[in-house]
Amino acid sequence: MDEKIDVVVVGGGPAGLNAALSAAQMGAEVLLLDAYPAPGGQYYRQPPQHLADHPTPHQRQGRQLWQEALASGVKIRSNVTVWYGDAEKTLIYHSNQGSIALHAKAIILACGTFERPVAFPGWTLPGVLMTGGAQTLLYHGVLPGRRVLLSGSGPLQLVVAKKLLEAGAEVVAVLEGSSRLLRRGMRHFAGVWGQWERLGEGLSSLATLMGRRVPYRFGWGIVAAHGEQQVERATIARYDEHWRPIPGSEEQVACDTICIGFGFVPFTTLGKLMGVKHIWSGDWNMEIPERDETMQTNVSGVFAVGDGAGLGGARLSILEGQIAGIAAAHQIGYGGTRAVAALQKLAPKVRRERAFQKMYTDLFAPGKGLFELAKEDTVICRCEGITLEQIRRARAMGASSISEVKAITRAGMGECQGRMCGLHINHILAQWTNKTPAEVGLNPARPPVFPLPIQALLLEQES
Ligand SMILES: Cc1cc2nc3c(=O)[nH]c(=O)nc-3n(C[C@H](O)[C@H](O)[C@H](O)COP(=O)(O)OP(=O)(O)OC[C@H]3O[C@@H](n4cnc5c(N)ncnc54)[C@H](O)[C@@H]3O)c2cc1C
Repeated sequence: MDEKIDVVVVGGGPAGLNAALSAAQMGAEVLLLDAYPAPGGQYYRQPPQHLADHPTPHQRQGRQLWQEALASGVKIRSNVTVWYGDAEKTLIYHSNQGSIALHAKAIILACGTFERPVAFPGWTLPGVLMTGGAQTLLYHGVLPGRRVLLSGSGPLQLVVAKKLLEAGAEVVAVLEGSSRLLRRGMRHFAGVWGQWERLGEGLSSLATLMGRRVPYRFGWGIVAAHGEQQVERATIARYDEHWRPIPGSEEQVACDTICIGFGFVPFTTLGKLMGVKHIWSGDWNMEIPERDETMQTNVSGVFAVGDGAGLGGARLSILEGQIAGIAAAHQIGYGGTRAVAALQKLAPKVRRERAFQKMYTDLFAPGKGLFELAKEDTVICRCEGITLEQIRRARAMGASSISEVKAITRAGMGECQGRMCGLHINHILAQWTNKTPAEVGLNPARPPVFPLPIQALLLEQES
């Protein structure tokens, strides 16, 4: 089966929904493809059926946006995974009807992020989970644990800690890896002046924690998780300015659940497969696509927006989506002067939002020490069970790139295709070879972007 369309948007979160709506409002024919059962992405993630009658404000906003997109003529396909793309603007997605190829005049990538994995002794024990994962369980009415420790950076920890308390869990402590936040935040005072509503969200969660006497410790973080069958306690320590545990500061904390939340990593595989140039963001230690002011990448007609292009948060994702939607439609002949005027109006809003995000990055981007918590027997590649010691042996055999480590050990060859271990191995190799993380790089992108049933490939050949 083959289709041709004006604009295809990959991803139905705040960035993708706004991109699709804006392109359609300029007159383009738009198709949005999204892997979740309903549009909304992470921010507007829709509730499961049994909670559908009690949507949160975010869920309501998401539903409204997607109804507006449908009313503007956007075609939405949920529950489909785009697993191939190229510079000719061909995409292939998999649905329960098999694989379908599309040819688009413009493509907007709005693929979002996954949570940043951190390998430390005991991180594979049952009871260690990501903070966003705990949030998702809570959305589904499931309590992730009874005695919960949170370790990470940024305000999401506070939001989740509050929800855990409301759901009946005991929060033993919230550890914020960053320190001297107030002093460092003052540098950004001018850029964030007036954004009280947003600062208020974090402060309200903080007030709940204080009311319940939950310890909130700055410059502290996880060192190890311990337990026989599952988490029973954690070793925590004070971090130095590079987020390395300070010897002698360790403490033991009894808990049955540890939520790890050190930020996010953009999904860049599809863009890389399409030939989009990526640059290394030293702040967050990850790759991001290079873009112009209309969010267009080096591949003409391919745009990248939202957190999948640079961790700007939901509000920046919305603005970037709107810009890319209008610019993509304009590039293929829609919108005329109306599009140009709309783009001019959005530009200052983006600048303002970026000032807020700059502060966020300066305050909460994790230090290098976080990638050095693993011991020799700590599993780094979870899919293939490869330890730090095995990677060290590969290095002794001469491996100096991620591909060479992969060839010798199989690290990064499993189901997640290196999403869990790639940044760790990058950091370790950079240290051992005296290179920068940018010089070491990550695994090259290969299709399929996500694991597929083999049948999907067979159907593609038949069509
Ligand atoms: C776990 C988690 C919890 C968060 N909690 C909060 C919070 O409490 N408060 C807050 O302000 N922010 C939160 N954020 C951040 C916020 O959700 C993001 O800033 C925002 O959602 C970014 O929007 P986006 O459209 O760029 O990406 P997303 O909302 O992540 O949407 C990306 C979409 O792309 C789809 N997709 C990706 N690849 C493919 C593919 N190959 N084929 C088809 N579809 C694909 C995904 O299914 C998803 O629907 C959270 C983020 C995460 C990951």
